[in-house]
Amino acid sequence: MDYEAVIGLEVHVQLTTKTKMFCSCSTKFGNPPNTQVCPICMGLPGVLPVINKRAVEYALKLAVALGCKINLRSVMARKHYFYPDLPKGYQISQYELPIAEGGGIDIELNGKKKRINLVRIHMEEDAGKLVHDEKQPYSYVDFNRAGVPLLEIVSKPEISSPEEAVAYLKTLRRIVRYLGICDGNMEEGSLRCDANVSVKPKGSDKFGTKVELKNMNSFKHVEKALAYEIKRQIGLLMEGKEVVQETRLYNEATQTTHPMRGKEEAHDYCYFPDPDLIEIKLSEEWINKVKDELPELPAEKKKRFIETYKLSEKEVDILIEERDFAEFFEETVKIYPNAKGVCNFMLTEVLRYLNKEGIFISESKLKPVHLAELLKLVEDGIISITIAKQQVFPEVFETGKAPKSIVEEKGLVQESSEDKLRAICEEVLKDHPAEVEKYKKGKKGLLGFFVGQVMKRTKGKANPKLVNEIFVKLLEG
Ligand code: ADP
Ligand code: ZN
Ligand code: MG
Repeated sequence: MDYEAVIGLEVHVQLTTKTKMFCSCSTKFGNPPNTQVCPICMGLPGVLPVINKRAVEYALKLAVALGCKINLRSVMARKHYFYPDLPKGYQISQYELPIAEGGGIDIELNGKKKRINLVRIHMEEDAGKLVHDEKQPYSYVDFNRAGVPLLEIVSKPEISSPEEAVAYLKTLRRIVRYLGICDGNMEEGSLRCDANVSVKPKGSDKFGTKVELKNMNSFKHVEKALAYEIKRQIGLLMEGKEVVQETRLYNEATQTTHPMRGKEEAHDYCYFPDPDLIEIKLSEEWINKVKDELPELPAEKKKRFIETYKLSEKEVDILIEERDFAEFFEETVKIYPNAKGVCNFMLTEVLRYLNKEGIFISESKLKPVHLAELLKLVEDGIISITIAKQQVFPEVFETGKAPKSIVEEKGLVQESSEDKLRAICEEVLKDHPAEVEKYKKGKKGLLGFFVGQVMKRTKGKANPKLVNEIFVKLLEG
């Protein structure tokens, strides 16, 4: 019998608000443990939480971007459970009345489009973090993360493969980054995903028992964990056994999953509306304002770039991955209107240097005017593309200096005097009689070798097109 997988994802995105959800502690990542805490996020008695308006605004942005139905009235609820990283003994979340319901995410995989519908988006606070030290018989608790605002995005069980799950996550990550509400860093835990997965006989409309997977902190892990789990579940069914509903942890080292706990039912959490917090009431005006201010989203940008700039889908996919990178491209094209040329340079040289430094374009010293100027210098034949790539661009990138001044300072202007170049070409031929002989016997590929010799002698400054022409004349003429 053939089986198919059914997957639903619960994604937590950590919001990039400056302060926590219900207090004014900083949300900054990476500071010493327990330096960003106060009586409110530590859950001391007698304190009252007050909701962070910015967090609600960010939730609205995402809800609008994903086409959700926004609830004008929503309620914060207490979700009770005991765990040492949860200082109050309950997490403030949303239950019966979340901020948004419905909506969907359009994914694309191998050229095929598919819409994954959402159940809901709700707001909640993050828990602290347990720090384990293998040399000690105990663990530490760091509450810096306790109370950091989160959005949970719950998909319907409409994802059919590990690859689709990754496409969904990548699409969602791109959207939250475009909106500027989450940095999407999976390793630092700012984007986390629990994956629910079950299998059923192909074509059957009855869902199988689901297992919840946790502890995957990269796209690769999500893919591997799901693939392993699907295989494990199919194996059980083929042996006539049953899948047990439980939560399982992914183990990076063995690339397998193992049981963590049985699944609790909702009533175990004893949800009830948090009496310390008033209902959240949203005005149509505020929602409309958020709508009006929404940036162009990745999917629209992609479509517009393909139409406007006549670039391939592959090129555009890379150009639009980061909003700043896409905007840099457009700024440059405004000054130097050769989209293909700008695109080529950005997807090779610019990306290479950004990746080498491990930074985003917004963190670099490169400016659109300078990239435009550099490409214009090449187009006008002032410098060769080789000089541009090897000698000018690295310095522009590193120092933020204008390409023109670098070209002048270093004396890199391209040699385009035909007389001067012909003299050098003749010298090269004189110095390589054997190669000339071979060329004349038909080894035409040696032309590249001759041109290379001229480039060497002129330190890359010779106009290669002209050198080519001169050689052809000298050798054939
Ligand atoms: P629970 O009550 O256990 O939290 P929910 O119905 O709230 O379950 O769903 C949680 C997540 O699990 C959702 O993303 C949903 O799409 C997914 N899900 C629900 N049922 C299944 C199933 N049979 N197989 C795979 N995923 C499922
Ligand atoms: Zn605090
Ligand atoms: Mg649920």
